[in-house]
Amino acid sequence: MPDGPFPRQDRPDAPAPASGDATPPDTPGRDAAGAPDPGATRPASPDGAHAARAATAPVPRDPPAPPGTPPSPPRGTPARTLRDADALRDAGLIDPEARAAIAAVAERYAIAVTPAVAALIDRDDPADPIARQFVPDPAELRTTPQELADPIADGPHTPVPGVVHRYPDRALLKPLLACPVYCRFCFRREVVGPDGGVLAEPALEAALDWFRRTPQVREAILTGGDPLMLSPRRLGHIVAALSAMPHIEIIRIHSRVPVADPARITPALLDALDTDKALFLCVHANHAREFSADARTALRRLARGGVALLGQSVLLRGVNDSAAALEALFRAMLASRVKPYYLHQLDRAPGTARFEVPIAEGRALLRALRGRVTGLAWPTYVLDLPGGEGKAPLGPEFAARDGAGWVVEGPLGGAWRQEDAPG
Ligand code: SF4
Repeated sequence: MPDGPFPRQDRPDAPAPASGDATPPDTPGRDAAGAPDPGATRPASPDGAHAARAATAPVPRDPPAPPGTPPSPPRGTPARTLRDADALRDAGLIDPEARAAIAAVAERYAIAVTPAVAALIDRDDPADPIARQFVPDPAELRTTPQELADPIADGPHTPVPGVVHRYPDRALLKPLLACPVYCRFCFRREVVGPDGGVLAEPALEAALDWFRRTPQVREAILTGGDPLMLSPRRLGHIVAALSAMPHIEIIRIHSRVPVADPARITPALLDALDTDKALFLCVHANHAREFSADARTALRRLARGGVALLGQSVLLRGVNDSAAALEALFRAMLASRVKPYYLHQLDRAPGTARFEVPIAEGRALLRALRGRVTGLAWPTYVLDLPGGEGKAPLGPEFAARDGAGWVVEGPLGGAWRQEDAPG
């Protein structure tokens, strides 16, 4: 893989269109911005492993639906990503009378609904949990005193542009701030959008240099924005540069792409992720229906490419705020080879109050799932502390101190008292 700065023509300076936009995602030799990608002619990888696998072992397009996954409603699919109020109205996702109010939201916050996501929305359901995540609401322009523009304090923990260093042994690299979709509850909603946030070549190299100069960092977490919106060439450069650092043991990528725009998971992208370091992809999904047949195919491709898959979700009112919805979500994740990792308490970003579920309710929901689903399906329920003090587990607890021992509740109803061991 190339190890130097990108040729200028490879920079994703323009907004990266989702699949369904002008550039077909599987078109070889094009980058995410639709520009010619000179890197497309490079060797697939040092051993050509991904290319060989892709050439000889095609993945079936339509694996069976995971048990418990509600069927996706059959819907028409728009040809392009919907990016404004008019497009949402024309696609039947907002009432015509709501156009002006939604246009006002669009002046402040980015909108994107990919064809893949639009196809999941039941237009006959005014409370559709997919629409609720992505279709803007006038309530977004109402901010409460508790809401913060930078709720987890990325800014104060940014040593160089594009890097966030909060914990001693890991750091974030944010190579761009564009996403395939813009979630209405996003904690970085004040900064994400299609128009900005791509680290220019010098800034990206400076960020990578920061990782080279910081040997206590063992894990590089690519986030954004969505790193899988980068061209395979640029993403491959970043993965290769991090992989060449002896102290980097783990590369983690946070992405919505496998569920929101699964056609982007191409052989070229899999090749970009080829590394001898441990590489985890943390898939953001909040409802079982996001695991469409195409999403499951994309995740299978990633798994076959050696990528370990984790899931992260946000507990959201009207999306997954019931034990049944969480059970279906986590079962759908597992059946798609994705291990539920984090369930996030909502970060109080501006205009997101309608999504908040109280912590006590979240703990009760998690408690209801314990014993009802396999332990593999149980994520850690966490709150990212405002101020950037890190993620704290919220419980629920099953053990309570009692004198010289512990009373431990069983998930199936019993309880056990365990005395401390003598000495
Ligand atoms: S994909 Fe992630 S970063 Fe992008 S809008 Fe959604 S929550 Fe925010």
